[in-house]
This record gives sequence, structure tokens and C-alpha cells, in this order.
Amino acid sequence: MKPSLVHCFKLLLLLALGGVTMHVPDADVLSSLGALRLDGHFSFHDVSAMARDFGNRCSLLPAAVLHSGSVSDIAATVKHVFLMGERSPLTIAARGHGHSLMGQSQAAGGIIVKMESLQGERTKVHDDGTSPFVDAPGGELWINVLRETLKYGLAPKSWTDYLHLTVGGTLSNAGVSGQAFRHGPQVSNVHQLEIVTGRGDVLTCSPEENSDLFYAALGGLGQFGIITRAKIALEPAPKMVRWIRVLYSDFASFTEDQEKLIMAENTFDYIEGFVIINRTGILNNWRTSFKPQDPVQASHFQSDGRVLYCLELTMNFNTDEADIMEQVSQLFSLCIKILTCDLTDVTYVEFLDRVHTSEVKLRAQGLWEVPHPWLNLLVPRSTIHKFAKEVFGKILKDSNNGPILLYPVNRSKWDKRTSVVIPDEEIFYLVGFLSSAPALSGHGSVEHAMNLNNQIVEFCEEADIGMKQYLAPYTTQQQWKAHFGARWETFERRKHTYDPLAILAPGQRIFPKAS
Ligand code: FAD
Repeated sequence: MKPSLVHCFKLLLLLALGGVTMHVPDADVLSSLGALRLDGHFSFHDVSAMARDFGNRCSLLPAAVLHSGSVSDIAATVKHVFLMGERSPLTIAARGHGHSLMGQSQAAGGIIVKMESLQGERTKVHDDGTSPFVDAPGGELWINVLRETLKYGLAPKSWTDYLHLTVGGTLSNAGVSGQAFRHGPQVSNVHQLEIVTGRGDVLTCSPEENSDLFYAALGGLGQFGIITRAKIALEPAPKMVRWIRVLYSDFASFTEDQEKLIMAENTFDYIEGFVIINRTGILNNWRTSFKPQDPVQASHFQSDGRVLYCLELTMNFNTDEADIMEQVSQLFSLCIKILTCDLTDVTYVEFLDRVHTSEVKLRAQGLWEVPHPWLNLLVPRSTIHKFAKEVFGKILKDSNNGPILLYPVNRSKWDKRTSVVIPDEEIFYLVGFLSSAPALSGHGSVEHAMNLNNQIVEFCEEADIGMKQYLAPYTTQQQWKAHFGARWETFERRKHTYDPLAILAPGQRIFPKAS
């Protein structure tokens, strides 16, 4: 469909109303896109769905959406914008499933590349018997990758807690969950990438070939290229999972046990943890849809005003194998001061896709598409107690508007050559405050949650906690420089090499488009 002058005018008006300062592409620039010969097509109207994301707090209207029919469509579009150079104000954002929190996959007045629309691209499993891998399109959802690999009895090793995210989207951040202590984050489990750079070149990269681009793109916040394919390591998939929850009343025992268990031999397959503050209602409980069959056991997790700590563990098994309870008991002998322990057996897919079960329930109640002022921090082990004392003892003493994740991972499993920024300590904690804000004012509002988030961040700065933000919503280059620290120089050099006009992923607000 062709763009019109009326369309350009409408865009200008909407951006002005939205308070966004930017250059709007003129009709000639947009017409030149419409004239590109593509397998797919552009749409210039009805693009408002691309101005939303999971965070639901930022809305930047694009000028056009590319429904790409092939990788060449993406390359042709990026090259076209690159060759227009500084004459064109266009930027380009790859959009995975749009599960960013603050407009990171949006492009005000720019082009959205809808990664999920790549047609004809297949997920292929390669099993040579020793190091199997899956070759997946960048816009594929992890749940679909799982379904395909399970046909071969295989599955990726490292996950996120929620599988309705895309391969390119999580690899552009890190991809962290309860398997990271063993396998590292998802970015540590990639063999090869195919990337369209900010110059419009299609390059294959791996630790051996174009390695600088490979490591730049992993955790690279979409700054260096659009990931169109990824080869990801696989392992044999179990059929079943024993899903265990252990409750603690004190933070020291909880974290001590978490650390012992991530270091133990033959340990659990997944280790995470939650902080439970006055936990009631679906908004505080949605992150894991754990269902102990026994309602008495389930009631253990009502915290009644206390702060409780819940260790969540799984052990994989196949139904024909010997009982795993002996191994579980041996590991529990390492643990201290457990209040209660509940367990349930589920299939591997049920476990991995657990957050989707909650999504369905929340959607039914109109509670999924609400604002999500999330805050995700990586906190060094040496300061986690100081952090907990202030945050759970004072700032969030009474309540929180969503689940709080807290679990340790080990730096040695994170490849330091990637762009991901982590604390400078062997063990650090992922702490996620996953707030929902369904109300316009008061306790359940964005304002309330942001006030708490700001207090937490300010405390971290004042007390020199040494934390790094994950999925950081920074808005100035100054903040990004501070985030990257000594690594900023490398990040900036890589940007100049692979996307010199700063066309890609403008929603991260790191580099302004050259004009
Ligand atoms: P988008 O949000 O669409 O994109 C994210 C960024 O990457 C944007 O800047 C975009 O331009 C860029 N991008 C997207 N695709 C590509 C591509 N193919 N190539 C290059 N750049 C690209 N994260 C974790 O690590 N662990 C978790 O357990 C976890 N759980 C989550 C649970 C929920 C319910 C939600 C909503 C998010 C969760 N996340 C988690 C965060 C998740 O990693 C981010 O939302 C991430 O942005 C992936 O979402 P997406 O695929 O929709 O990508």
C-alpha cells in the first residue's frame, strides 16, 4: 500500500500530540520504500499496533511496517535507508513479540520490521549425535522452537521464564532463567548468527567467523544488526519435571541454600527464588502457576503480612527412570532452616510454558494488557544482604504489586565477550520486581510503582551496591555510558563499524540517528 501526503500529515500531528521531538519522513522518502521490490510488503496505515509493547507505558507511532517475506527484504530495506544517508530521518526497529518494557522495539516515525512475519523461514533441527543444535529464524517464538526440537527428543539448554518471546529479542538482551547457573544465559548457548547489519549487509557470524559482530550482537540491544537466524545448542529433553518449592522465613538461610545448591554436584536442573510480601491475589501470584494438589500445602504460601522467601527448584526425570527422590533428599541435606516443602510433577512443556498459563488467566480478567513498570537488577553477592535489608525491610515492607524474583547466577557461565553488562563478581543475583499497574491512581498505579522503583535505584546508588540494570530503560547516552563503564568504548566502536548512521533499534535511546 502506498503512503500519502495525508498519512505524513497525520503522523506529524500524532507525534506532536505525543510530545515526541523528531524529524518526520516526507512523502518522497516513504514513497521510495513503497517502490522497493520485495517478497513481502510495507504497510503505511493501521500501524498503531506497532506503537505498543508489554510495558504499556510508551507509544511511538512508526511511519511504516515491513511485513518481510524474506531476509533479503530486510537487507534491501536497511540498505535503502543506509544509502539515503543523512538525507533521511528514517530509523528501523526489529520487533520480536513486542515484549519490551519501555518502547525498545518501537521507532517514532521510522520503520518497524515485524520479525514474526518472515514467511518461508523454517526452524531446522540438526542432530549429529554429539552436539545437536537448532537453526531458528530470529522472529521465531521460543515456544515454537521447543515444540519443533521436542519432535527429535531434544530441547535448548537455557531458557527465559516465559516462552512467548522471540529468539532475536531475548538474544539481544541475554535470556536469563533458572538454568543459567548451569548453562549460562541464552547468549552463552549460541553457535552461529545470521545478521543484517546497519549497512544492509547479510553476514554469518560465529566465534570463528566475523567473531566481533557475533559477540557484539549477543546482548547487543539490537544496535549492530537484525538477527535473522540463530543456531542454538540442544540437549536431550526430559519427559517430566519434579517441581519443588521450599519456604524460608529468613533471607540469610534462603540465599545461603541457593548458593550451595548452584555450586553442588548433581544438583537441580533449575534454581530460582521469590520474595513473598503480603502475597494475595492473582497479580502477585502469576509468575509461576505452581499447583500443589493439596490445598493445605498451597496455603503455606499465603504470607499473611510476613516477608517469606521461596526457593523454586526442579529436577528432570523420565517416567521409566529410578525414583529421583533419593537425589532430591541428598541435596536437601545441604539445606538449612526450611519451613515447608511442596512438590508436584508436571511435563517438561507444562513447566517451561508455565507463565503462559498465567497469561491466559490474566488476559481473561483484563489484567495482562496493563502497564508494567518492571525493574530488573543484577546485584553482586557481596551486597545482596545490605540490599535486601533496605529493600525488603524498609522500601517494600508492606507490599509490592507483583512477583519479586531473586536468584543467584555465576559469572563464569557468562561469556564476557558479549555485549551484556554484568556485575564484576563471580556470584550475582537477578532481582526482578515485576509490577503490574492496573489502577490510575493509588497503590496499584504506575506512579506508585515508579516511586518504589526510584527509591530502590537511588538506594543502590547511594549505598554503592554495584548493581547493573537488566533490560534497562535508560533515556540518555550519559546513563548508557555509566551502565557500560569501561566497556563503552568497545560498544561505541562496534556501533560505528556495523551501524555507522545509527539506524537500528532507536527505542533503546543509546545513539541518535545521524542527520
Ligand atoms: P522485543 O521486545 O520485540 O525486542 C527487544 C529489543 O530487541 C528491541 O530493541 C528490538 O528492536 C530488538 N530486537 C528484536 N528482535 C530482534 C532481532 N531479531 N534482531 C535484533 N534485534 C532485535 N527476559 C529474561 O531474560 N528472562 C526472563 O525470564 C524473562 N521473562 C519475561 C516474561 C515476560 C512475561 C515478559 C514480557 C518478558 C520477559 N523477559 C525475560 C524479557 C524479554 O527478554 C524481553 O521482553 C525481550 O525484549 C524479548 O521480547 P521480544 O522477543 O518481544 O523482543
